[in-house]
Amino acid sequence: MTCNPPNLIAVNGADLVLKGRNRAQFESRLRQQIAGRLKHLGLHWPVRRVSGRIIVDITGERERLDEALAALGEIPGIASYFPAVAFPAEWAATSEQDLLGGTLGRALLELARHEHRPGARFAVRVVRHLPDATVSTQSLERLWGAAILEQTDWEGVDLSRPDCTFHIALYPDQALLYSHKMKGVGGLPAGSSGRVVSLLSGGIDSPVAAYLMARRGCAVECLHFSASYVDRDRAADTPVGKLARHLSRYTQSLTLHVAPYVPFDLALAGKQDGYELMLFRRFMLRTAAALARRRRAAALVTGDSLSQVASQTLDNLVALDAAATLPIFRPLIGLNKQEIISWARSIGTYETSIEPYKDCCALIGRRPKTRAHADRLDALEAERVPEHERLVDTVLDESVTLKFEFGEPAG
Ligand code: ATP
Ligand code: MG
Repeated sequence: MTCNPPNLIAVNGADLVLKGRNRAQFESRLRQQIAGRLKHLGLHWPVRRVSGRIIVDITGERERLDEALAALGEIPGIASYFPAVAFPAEWAATSEQDLLGGTLGRALLELARHEHRPGARFAVRVVRHLPDATVSTQSLERLWGAAILEQTDWEGVDLSRPDCTFHIALYPDQALLYSHKMKGVGGLPAGSSGRVVSLLSGGIDSPVAAYLMARRGCAVECLHFSASYVDRDRAADTPVGKLARHLSRYTQSLTLHVAPYVPFDLALAGKQDGYELMLFRRFMLRTAAALARRRRAAALVTGDSLSQVASQTLDNLVALDAAATLPIFRPLIGLNKQEIISWARSIGTYETSIEPYKDCCALIGRRPKTRAHADRLDALEAERVPEHERLVDTVLDESVTLKFEFGEPAG
């Protein structure tokens, strides 16, 4: 006999419990995003809300289940999800023998045979979402566990660290049977926390910073400063274009602005006294703030990690903030490089981030100052770049805009 194929995917929302009154709104946003993502894959599977959980009915194209599961693994707001087989509620007021011989009991045994691995140990977990306690979960776990031991090749049970867990969730109208529970991105559904402008270099850190903000529900617009003018078609193939495209898997949609900082470069006229990097970083923040105003974003995001490089010493970060007109979020501030790298690997940006990319940060002098003070930077700016505001507008007006959706170019 073959194992019953899953006929639905159950999705548990993350963090939604913290949101009290907004819960329904968050759940419906998450439901829409799941439906949108599946539709983008060409899967028109209905997505409904059932007693605090989201259910995706698999109504066709079952062979594409793995693809759908992988897509769900990229949607912020999902804590966990699992493909399951649903059965009608036949356990109420039935004898133990009926339970074992019924469709659910038989399907459990088939699933157990299908998942069997020599030497491995299993557990049966029953969760009851029933208004009254007509059945005891413990006695069901024992009953079904004993049946698996008797009627299949499984050799033993391990309740604390099982190699495989057979889950049975009992609801008033149905039971769900599943064995593979997957971990989601967690956090909050995209767009539920407002909009930020994230400064994206081609490096390892800033894509992780943008991802972490997206995971907390922010709509993310990315801004990249390039050392030369780029045309729209070429921009998508640069490492930063590829990074933005990849990030849109998590954000649903994402806009990347590529701003050439040539006019700022010219204003500095090649002076190298160790302050140019900090002047450039303040210019980037001012330009990002101007973009945020145009795009109605509430805050800026950078990939700074304390003292990782010269421009990120505590003194320098303070001197940067002195030029900021919007809050700057730095989600990586307390992480070590190795921790950031493992994030980058897990979200799939690392390989692109380490590709050689010449078109950025040509301004970094050999010995950047590690203790620049805001007063000194103010004075240097007044002397070297008196027309700051005009430069900011020029750089933004000359920027190229790319849109991505679900990991692909859009529009
Ligand atoms: P990253 O991996 O983000 O490049 P980094 O260690 O190289 O990190 P810096 O070059 O000092 O760090 O930059 C610090 C932050 O400034 C970056 O994380 C990013 O947010 C922003 N940034 C740096 N260069 C650019 C750029 N060319 N365009 C947009 N943002 C930038
Ligand atoms: Mg960098």
